[in-house]
Amino acid sequence: MKFSVLAETFEKMEKTTKRLELTDHLVDFFKNTPLDLVSKVVYLIQGKLGPDYEGIEIGVAEKIVIKAVHRSTAIEVKRIEEAYRKDGDLGHAVSKLIEQKTQTTLFDAVEGQSQTVEWVYDTLFKIAELAGSGKNVVDKKMNYIASLLNNVDSISGKFIIKILIGTMRLGVADNTILDALAIAYTGSKDNREKIENAYNVSSDLGKVAKVAAKDGLEGIKQFKVIVFDPIRPMLADRVKSEKEAIEKLGKKFAAEFKLDGERVQIHLENGRVDLFSRRLENIRSYYPDIVENIPKSLKIQNAILEAEAVAINEDTGEFLPFQELMHRRRKYNVDKAVLQYPITLNFFDILYADGKSCLNLGYEERRKLLTKILVEDNFSKIIPQKVVTNENEIEDFLENSINSGCEGLMLKDLQSPYRAGARGSNWLKLKREYRNELGDSLDLVVIGAFFGKGRRTGKYGTLLVATYNDDEDTFPSICKVGTGFTDENLDQFYQILSNKVTLKKNPRIISDMEADIWFDPELVIEIVASEITLSPIHKTAQSTIRKGSGLALRFPKFTGKIRMEKSPENASTDQEVIALYKGQTKITREID
Ligand code: AMP
Repeated sequence: MKFSVLAETFEKMEKTTKRLELTDHLVDFFKNTPLDLVSKVVYLIQGKLGPDYEGIEIGVAEKIVIKAVHRSTAIEVKRIEEAYRKDGDLGHAVSKLIEQKTQTTLFDAVEGQSQTVEWVYDTLFKIAELAGSGKNVVDKKMNYIASLLNNVDSISGKFIIKILIGTMRLGVADNTILDALAIAYTGSKDNREKIENAYNVSSDLGKVAKVAAKDGLEGIKQFKVIVFDPIRPMLADRVKSEKEAIEKLGKKFAAEFKLDGERVQIHLENGRVDLFSRRLENIRSYYPDIVENIPKSLKIQNAILEAEAVAINEDTGEFLPFQELMHRRRKYNVDKAVLQYPITLNFFDILYADGKSCLNLGYEERRKLLTKILVEDNFSKIIPQKVVTNENEIEDFLENSINSGCEGLMLKDLQSPYRAGARGSNWLKLKREYRNELGDSLDLVVIGAFFGKGRRTGKYGTLLVATYNDDEDTFPSICKVGTGFTDENLDQFYQILSNKVTLKKNPRIISDMEADIWFDPELVIEIVASEITLSPIHKTAQSTIRKGSGLALRFPKFTGKIRMEKSPENASTDQEVIALYKGQTKITREID
């Protein structure tokens, strides 16, 4: 199959924002895709070359791509840069330049050349495999990129560039692909849940798609938990009060301390250990201490477990804030960081044990099993738990948890199986902050900034932040935030964000503000506020509560937590903000 055929589908998808239309385009395309290409196509649709846990990064610098475009098309570098500056999207800008060139000079675009989907994918893969930034590596990358763009048609060129620089955003969420796979390969959207189950235990949409295409529903039913294939984590809903928890979970349920660390999914088989983050990236290299300790901490040989890794003060045993763990996220000198930032590993679930999946066991059975197979010591511990039956007991346990330096409680239904990949009311979180003012903290995406004055000169003094709109796959602005930052935070933000600056506002950002600087929406930070108000300027939940108005935060403040472990799509959604707004007891006021 020619890559241009796939690019045409991308083009159609890019033009629609309606989920049903996107699904239709995908279904049509899947039906015509040769079996051996299905998984590659699924990855490419998402701008990837494999499942997230394989950590294959393409991420070529724009500068190199611009030079390669010049080499393949003979368009001057200056012209490319100028077009990019005006357009804001390098892929789109180059595509327009190729179009003009083809029209004016009969540029011999041998249609699609020999560029098959397979060849493009393989070439991209070779680029991703080239590690390092030495001259040799850059030259090789450049040659590959130039070959990809040689005589390329304008639409293929656009999407190849977007994949190369990581700006492929067709607005296709996992859910849309799952719907399309169900319709295309099993004949009915009703089978979507079965396909989703396969995805939940494999975390590999490409593999699921391939099996669905080859063996239909029968193949899909064969998916099972396998050690070293990460499982999509079960997520929790939030509640504001003990009373609300009882309304949702009934008269008797489990309360566990909610620790403020990094969630780690631990896979063990015959001495080999692998570790995955909540976003299912492989984080093995950051935690050599976990890798070393796990075989000693378990009485069985094969297992998949979940634990919260928490930084501690080794002298006092006190828990330290989540931020401390981020020092471990480095390529070099990890051993030093392990000594400097020691942790404990606090287990809370078991998903697989001794050759069997535990996902369908009830919570109580899993906890019992976890207690049985775990050897507790100074490093490995089981998270404190208590079965509670009334508000007073919850309140008391919450106080204990906060006094021990935790964030609050996780409340869990006693019978519930492990619902991989799902957020629901079988797990609830009750945090301390939820009990005051707005009654909640929000995880928001940094989309822009305003330069600071005085002490903050040369830094980003105020940040513009957004929620995630999961229907539209966009990031609507919700407020500006300029309080709660320490000098260290300001430096940290500058360091992290200066790599994410874009020349023009990313098309997924929805905002009428004139920020001094725009960022790719990637960094998630935690914000508290006093109230949610209707706003004529901000765009969260636009026109949902009142036509023409969005929602905004009043008196927002940074809590000090950078949520490195959260992807922007995991930030607080418009729906969550609407729910909080509706839950406010105060009469809301409009702000200008
Ligand atoms: P949040 O990040 O606020 O959505 O809260 C969910 C996170 O809390 C999980 O992803 C875990 O990293 C963390 N967590 C801490 N303690 C527990 C626990 N006892 N059970 C489940 N998750 C926990």
